Amino acid sequence: MSVVTRFAPSPTGYLHVGGARTALYSWLYAKSQGGEFVLRIEDTDLVRSTDEAKQAILDGMTWLGLHHDKGPYYQTERFERYNQIIDELLDKGLAYKCFMSVEELDAIRDEQEKKGEKPRYPGTWRDRTDHPEGQTFVIRFKNPLEGEVVIKDHVRGEIRISNTELDDLIIKRTDGAPTYNFCVVVDDWDMGITHVVRGEDHINNTPRQINILNALGAPIPEYAHVSMILGDDGKKLSKRHGAVSVMQYRDDGYLPQAVLNYLVRLGWSHGDQEIFSLDEMIEHFNLDSISKSASAFNTEKLNWLNEHYIKTLPASEVAQHAKWHFDQQGIDYSKGPSVESVIEVQAERATTLKDLAAMSHYFYADFESFDEKAAKKHLRVVAKEPLLAVKDALLAVQDWNPDKIQAAINNTAETLGIGMGKIGMPLRVAATGSGNSPSLDVTLNLMEKDKIAQRIDMALIYIANRENS
Ligand code: GLU
Repeated sequence: MSVVTRFAPSPTGYLHVGGARTALYSWLYAKSQGGEFVLRIEDTDLVRSTDEAKQAILDGMTWLGLHHDKGPYYQTERFERYNQIIDELLDKGLAYKCFMSVEELDAIRDEQEKKGEKPRYPGTWRDRTDHPEGQTFVIRFKNPLEGEVVIKDHVRGEIRISNTELDDLIIKRTDGAPTYNFCVVVDDWDMGITHVVRGEDHINNTPRQINILNALGAPIPEYAHVSMILGDDGKKLSKRHGAVSVMQYRDDGYLPQAVLNYLVRLGWSHGDQEIFSLDEMIEHFNLDSISKSASAFNTEKLNWLNEHYIKTLPASEVAQHAKWHFDQQGIDYSKGPSVESVIEVQAERATTLKDLAAMSHYFYADFESFDEKAAKKHLRVVAKEPLLAVKDALLAVQDWNPDKIQAAINNTAETLGIGMGKIGMPLRVAATGSGNSPSLDVTLNLMEKDKIAQRIDMALIYIANRENS
């Protein structure tokens, strides 16, 4: 049997962390089995579905790199198919028209609630043939009256639900629209879905869907209902604690690889391994190792993973994503050092790509002033002579590389008989505008000699002004 999984989001909002994790698990399972991954947009709720949300889901999936093998399918484009199946069920006596008015149904429900019973439709029209003319109706599925549905869930184990708990589900509304649960069933059947990975909030739908699949003579997929994700405060995930859109993670400077690694571990484990390349995830992933308990979001761990991937992924791959942030921050990297080379020197220092871009402006653009604190501390009168001397020494370097740059700085310090600190920090503040930069040899190596000289002159003016004030 060839495995086919799907991710079936409702486009009523952005792709959030929980959805992304479900998508990842579903995608990974398909990949791990050499199967196919289907993307299906469940847009039957015309009021709540929006084009922006559809696009946001597609963008999120693309950014994460969770490419689908089939789709995207849209349920709104398949109404004809759903209605055709509903007609077949009617013909076979497996579904029926129900003429009960909303008022009648409400009255029955009130009565049931008063008696402390679970509200359920009592099957009033199940076998009636005295259909009134010209009256609106819904179509209901004839749920089996006896027996039970057994779900062998990969996460939650065996779940048994008695059919007496289930009533006859509406599969077509009075306005002629097929209902959500019914569309899912027909889709899973038509799309040959073998494994359904979804949130535990759908677990109540599963027995109903299985009964309909049985009535259609369709194969029953295997199920894995994944637990909730809690915020890092242990409560329901909220905006402040991680329930943000996946694209927010891009905006905040996370690498998709870090987010994927983070999400895969949020409710799944393989020994005590924390770092997984995509290939390793695919190799080790299986549905049975998904945890049953809720997972709590942990921003620190995500940060740690992001730092790891900024440092260890090839600079060219990090650069692809970093450039987006450079653009966002108005850094023109068409001139100056390559973004890759900047990443190589900055990678150790950044938690996010946003930070990395923010600390890289000086490679590409002049600054108007020095960081106030750093300048006060390091651009003092005593720094004048060392700065003048190191400027000449740097200008004299023939073969511009980190070793030669370092030698020029060392020689200057030696000639002047001063420690490295007296020359290094003033030079750093002069060249980069602040007291924070990677080591000077590699930093200056990415800059033009003349640019450094010009900035040292600016520092000398600063010192002179300070002297005069
Ligand atoms: N459309 C549902 C949701 O977004 C998922 C349904 C399913 O996976 O069966 O929650």
